[in-house]
Amino acid sequence: MAQQIKAIRGMHDVLPEQAALWRFLEDSVRDVLDGYGYAEMRMPIVEMTELFKRSIGEVTDIVEKEMYSFEDRNGDSLTLRPEGTAGCVRACMENGLLHNQTQRIWYRGPMFRHERPQKGRYRQFHQIGVETFGFKGPDIDLETIFITRRIWQRLGLTGLELQINSLGDAAERTAYRELLVAYLDVHRDRLDADSLRRLDGNPLRILDSKNPEMRDVIEGAPSLFDHLGEESRRHFDELRAGLDAAGIPYVVNPCLVRGLDYYNRSVYEWVTTRLGAQGTVCAGGRYDGLVEQLGGKPTPAVGFALGVERLLALLEESGCKGADLAPHAYLVLMGTEAERQGVVIADRLRELAPRLRLQLHCGGGGIKNQFKKADKSGAPYALVLGDDELGRGLVTLKPLREAGEQREMTLAGAASFFNELIEKKG
Ligand code: ATP
Ligand code: MG
Repeated sequence: MAQQIKAIRGMHDVLPEQAALWRFLEDSVRDVLDGYGYAEMRMPIVEMTELFKRSIGEVTDIVEKEMYSFEDRNGDSLTLRPEGTAGCVRACMENGLLHNQTQRIWYRGPMFRHERPQKGRYRQFHQIGVETFGFKGPDIDLETIFITRRIWQRLGLTGLELQINSLGDAAERTAYRELLVAYLDVHRDRLDADSLRRLDGNPLRILDSKNPEMRDVIEGAPSLFDHLGEESRRHFDELRAGLDAAGIPYVVNPCLVRGLDYYNRSVYEWVTTRLGAQGTVCAGGRYDGLVEQLGGKPTPAVGFALGVERLLALLEESGCKGADLAPHAYLVLMGTEAERQGVVIADRLRELAPRLRLQLHCGGGGIKNQFKKADKSGAPYALVLGDDELGRGLVTLKPLREAGEQREMTLAGAASFFNELIEKKG
């Protein structure tokens, strides 16, 4: 036998048994976003490598060591998107969506990063991303946080902690950067290899190092927070006041700097202690500099990204079953004529009851075997079509999960029975 080819390390199949949870998560998030007036967008999964280099920044984990980049047949360097913001900004600029207007946008899909695979960290993973353009805030910063809070509520997730910080504006960061580098330079001997490398290119990133041996030196560092200008401070104070007014608890984490270079002012993360080291399920903030950095007019922007796999792990852990995708009914066929006509009758039923989930028995076999399959399908009802019923234009409805008489019905009768059932269940 030929050797079977396996999936790529860190890239996973979503199997049918996982679909209910994915569907529940995706539908819930979509409904919440609809409720806030956000419009869906779909961008290509592949972009020019240059786009990510320019937006995320050369001295970042992503660009330095995590991107899936390759040359296409024309010799262009392309990259599988490691995140969605860059492509979203590119698409909005290219299609004139940022010109004299505001935008509230969301998207979802796979992202690719060549990281060391572990629980909650994969090489292909999924994000649901939200981006807004043209709003100076802090009302919109707050709105995006409210959206995330509403999403947890809709999903039934509790115990997530909101962490916030302010990164100031570009000038404040530049000034602070000098202070930080001066401090870190004095403590060079206590920095790990990654941090030493970042000292020149991206010193702020050192602050969110996950190496426990770095903790002391980081805690002693000057705080950007103490060097915010008046406007940045006011923005942050208003954000905090808004969170207080909405009753959303939060902690200020001065070490929260985010991995991506384009953030300014508000940054936030939602974290949980229930997923081990990979505890951040949502990361977001303001990135007023990015549009200009990519060749557009200065445009204020705020967004966040949800880590879908981490949220699914939380849902699973909390015992959530997800969306009910089981068929309402399984159509059992008895006799040669019924077997022949089954596929047509099933479709007539679906036409009469458009929201009916009906699974048709295919492939023949005895009645016992068919009922076994009906049971396995998860359907609460079987519909039995025999040659005799077929001749009289009837089907027999038989409850599978609870006691109850079986009864004969016309197709129209069966359809209205299921229409009512579905209406009742919502
Ligand atoms: P981390 O510090 O965990 O590496 P990050 O700062 O690289 O996260 P972002 O680029 O902000 O992450 O992405 C937003 C969210 O996407 C993260 O909070 C996380 O939930 C999820 N995420 C990021 N990388 C991965 C990955 N490799 N596998 C699964 N989920 C991921
Ligand atoms: Mg990362």
